Amino acid sequence: MSDRVIAIDGPAGSGKSSVARALASALGWSFLDTGAMYRAVTVAALDRGVEPSDAPAVAALARAAAIETLPRVVIDGRDVEDAIRTERVNEAVSIVAANPEVRAQMVERQRAFADRQPEGTVVEGRDITTVVFPNATVKVFLTASLEERARRRGEEGAASVARRDEADASRAASPLRRAPDALVLDTTGRSVEEVVEEIRAWLRTRPH
Ligand code: C5P
Repeated sequence: MSDRVIAIDGPAGSGKSSVARALASALGWSFLDTGAMYRAVTVAALDRGVEPSDAPAVAALARAAAIETLPRVVIDGRDVEDAIRTERVNEAVSIVAANPEVRAQMVERQRAFADRQPEGTVVEGRDITTVVFPNATVKVFLTASLEERARRRGEEGAASVARRDEADASRAASPLRRAPDALVLDTTGRSVEEVVEEIRAWLRTRPH
């Protein structure tokens, strides 16, 4: 299955979602935004009055939840496409994502999703190249300056983006890391099309 997965990791605002979506569309492959899954669990917890730091309660909720990400993000039948991008979710999502039981649940679903796709899947997140699909034949790590990443994230602001990156890179469970065999691309000042073209050019040079 790993030969039908392109794994993309990187910090907030590095361009992962836009690049992964455009690459999937160019290849005729599926796309999976794993951050949206952690965000959906966070919305469900906040709405039910569950403290994000209450690890067993959030894990139970994640275990029982039905989550879809396409065409819109839906958890337990509720469309949360807009709710997942709010400031209260930006603030709480890294706490939910540091919960090892929540991660185990999400990773299992991410692998099952890729398994079900008739073609391949472009999967993006923080631990895709290192934990979810460590054997993916194609791994990409995107970076960009903090200034540019904060600009792309708009209302979230540089302080929140930096705080989330720090939390995601320093947690014990599956921290954000560069896989040694990943293609590292700095997307600062570059368009989505340019980055997608560079990844596709790199794909063409690789043995099949
Ligand atoms: O990519 P996005 O900014 O939507 O991700 C939101 C949060 O979800 C990240 O800050 C991180 O805490 C978490 N996440 C994760 N592992 C992934 C994808 C996202 O921990 N594979």
